[in-house]
Amino acid sequence: MRIFTAVLATETNTFSPICVDRRAFEASLYAAPGEHPETPTLCSAPITVGRRLAAEKGFDLIEGTAAWADPAGLVNRLTYENLRDEILGQLRAALPVDAVVLGLHGAMVADGYEDAEGDFLARVRAIVGPDILVCAELDPHSHLTAKRLAAANFFVYFKEFPHTDFVDRAEDLWRIALDTLAGRVKPVMSVFDCRMIDVYPTSRDPMRAFVDRIVKMEAHDPDILSISIVHGFMAGDVPEMGTKMVVITDGKPEKGVALARELGLDLFSRRGTFIMPQIDEREAVSRAMAATSGPVVIADVWDNPGGGTAGDATVLLAELLAQGATDTAAGTIWDPMAVQICMAAGEGAEIQLRFGAKSGPGTGNPIDGIVKVIRLVRNAEMRFGESFAPFGDSAHIRLDEIDIILNSTRAQSFDPSLFSAMGIDPTVKKILVIKSTNHFYASFARIAAEILYCSAGTPYPNNPARTAYRRAPRNIWPMVDNPHGMEQGAA
Ligand SMILES: [Zn+2]
Repeated sequence: MRIFTAVLATETNTFSPICVDRRAFEASLYAAPGEHPETPTLCSAPITVGRRLAAEKGFDLIEGTAAWADPAGLVNRLTYENLRDEILGQLRAALPVDAVVLGLHGAMVADGYEDAEGDFLARVRAIVGPDILVCAELDPHSHLTAKRLAAANFFVYFKEFPHTDFVDRAEDLWRIALDTLAGRVKPVMSVFDCRMIDVYPTSRDPMRAFVDRIVKMEAHDPDILSISIVHGFMAGDVPEMGTKMVVITDGKPEKGVALARELGLDLFSRRGTFIMPQIDEREAVSRAMAATSGPVVIADVWDNPGGGTAGDATVLLAELLAQGATDTAAGTIWDPMAVQICMAAGEGAEIQLRFGAKSGPGTGNPIDGIVKVIRLVRNAEMRFGESFAPFGDSAHIRLDEIDIILNSTRAQSFDPSLFSAMGIDPTVKKILVIKSTNHFYASFARIAAEILYCSAGTPYPNNPARTAYRRAPRNIWPMVDNPHGMEQGAA
């Protein structure tokens, strides 16, 4: 038995000013066939799990290229076409194969390709023909298009957000694939369009309970091979943007359709209740300054480079300066140009500096001031679970009574070591400002007296009812109140 595997993935925020070329893939993950590291990154677990299963069960795993770029904006056309054609060439060379098992993200948009994964999957299908199994693991922050459904046999998505289960879901993907090849199951994918878009953290209810419920259904009903909630990705301005429910049954499409609909309408009935409550920058700063114990962590939740933004918004920092906050540290503001200037000035120098808010609208205004350069670190890193996340050449500067970290490699604030790496003890500060939506929580909760979720400016299109979409559907919630009711009325 011969199975081909490869990875082609990134998450495209079509509103992001940071475009993605080949270098962006190489900076995140680019591995030629056979050169993928032992440990997977987000979308590449099908390769590492596939290796283990190939050794255990004795099939041939033919590895293609693995490429992943951190979330950002539009992918350069030639970059996409070259990576795609590289993998398709490897697949042709590997023929005949019994299956193609892919790691994708599902929200890639390349110049000229609104549905990049649909294009890729259709070409894979054209090469292998109609009878060969094609399946993929994807991130739920993706667009499930008709083109993809037509091209693949089944999809398995991460269930958790934060995405702590990407290895477990790769195990699901492979289990269903190998059972299919052995003739034990006949996977049939049923999809329900929830006609909504929202953000669904699984660290809190109601999504926690919802995911626990579908995991139980999978475990107890032999007809159900897998259930996925495709959250959708509101920062991708594409025609099939939105939340979808996916049920894979063992040859029971009527049951799959009914269950996908039931679960999808249940999710729809809870619309608007999933995301953590947020406050604006004025309230966040006032509350943090009035707190009697610290540190109070203010998360600038929408300027999260992990969601593709530049990470250079200054709205919260400007409010801290305006309210005269002291004993405060803010990290990070992405500004490679300002970092270079600080590096040239040297530690201890006092300079006139303009920094931040250069990437795009909705991020506030650049900050001007006489700053003191406190500490300079080349190739700075913070902890991220068991490993490290780089944030590039960085400068710790002080403006008024606020310590600020400027960085050169966009990175969300995963861990308090972001501050200690720059010579700031985060535990003794009264206020810490960080840029992250959700991933920061576990590590910062250990040192925080209080955590405030702040929505400051519009670096990210976080309000679909008001976002100036050009391509996304307008007949889904929250753009309209009751898209399902309207549909019935029209019929
Ligand atoms: Zn995601």
